[in-house]
Amino acid sequence: MSLKGKVAVVTGGSRGIGKAICLELAACGADIAFFARRPAPEVEAELSALGVRAKCYPADVADYSAVSDTFREVVSDFGTVDILVNNAGITCDKLLLSMTPEDFDGVVKTNLYGVFNTVKQVYPIFMRKRSGRIINVSSVSGLIGNPGQANYSASKAGVIGLTKAVARELGPRGVTCNAIAPGFVETDMTAGLPDIAGLKASIPARRFGRPEEIAACAAWLASDGASYVNGAVITADGGMTCH
Ligand code: NAP
Repeated sequence: MSLKGKVAVVTGGSRGIGKAICLELAACGADIAFFARRPAPEVEAELSALGVRAKCYPADVADYSAVSDTFREVVSDFGTVDILVNNAGITCDKLLLSMTPEDFDGVVKTNLYGVFNTVKQVYPIFMRKRSGRIINVSSVSGLIGNPGQANYSASKAGVIGLTKAVARELGPRGVTCNAIAPGFVETDMTAGLPDIAGLKASIPARRFGRPEEIAACAAWLASDGASYVNGAVITADGGMTCH
């Protein structure tokens, strides 16, 4: 799979799944602009060592004007954008009974508005180019719901709705917009979960996924091989939600 000459923007690229996506896209030859709230010079160095251009842009995806300014910077630095991977996400788990409006708002602002904010920036670019790939990282939580995650499940279900709407809007322009719905993946986000052994036992694969396994899906969706895949939700969950 070659992505040589392509420019990819990956949000939340400093750790976990996002970092794995940056590494996989870079291994395929893409130049990488990645966003995170904190700078990540060590990830920049790791990516540059693969022989591509790489730069970290400290930006909060929940902040529309910051995202808009940052995309202007990316286009000035890299010339264009060909691939957008919306991966930045947070959790704030508690039962709805004790969930505050701020708990709900914070998660939706990052996980759903964050996707709106970035898609708004690439939309006119991809329309003009008549090409482009948008890959949104949702979650099985957005497909089946999860107790203690009303905010997160709502945000991730919203990402799926947005993905399908954009797929229909931009499909005629040669642009694809797809979602990946991971199950449990070994990252900082899942490190503190209670009863990890019990969770693993409930998954047909009997293990959590690795970030590289989600990155492989993202790289494929960005590749020529996925040119007829649009508006899809690819579950990568070790069989957790199969029925
Ligand atoms: P993670 O290890 O916690 O990493 C999150 C990344 O997002 C970091 O790079 C973080 O950097 C960045 N980030 C968080 N909030 C941000 C914001 N407002 N603006 C910009 N960057 C932000 O998470 P992960 O487990 O890799 O998850 C990645 C994505 O996969 C998320 O969307 C998550 O919901 C989804 N997902 C994860 C799992 C799982 O089991 N791990 C399962 C299903 C779906 P900073 O902290 O520096 O901002």
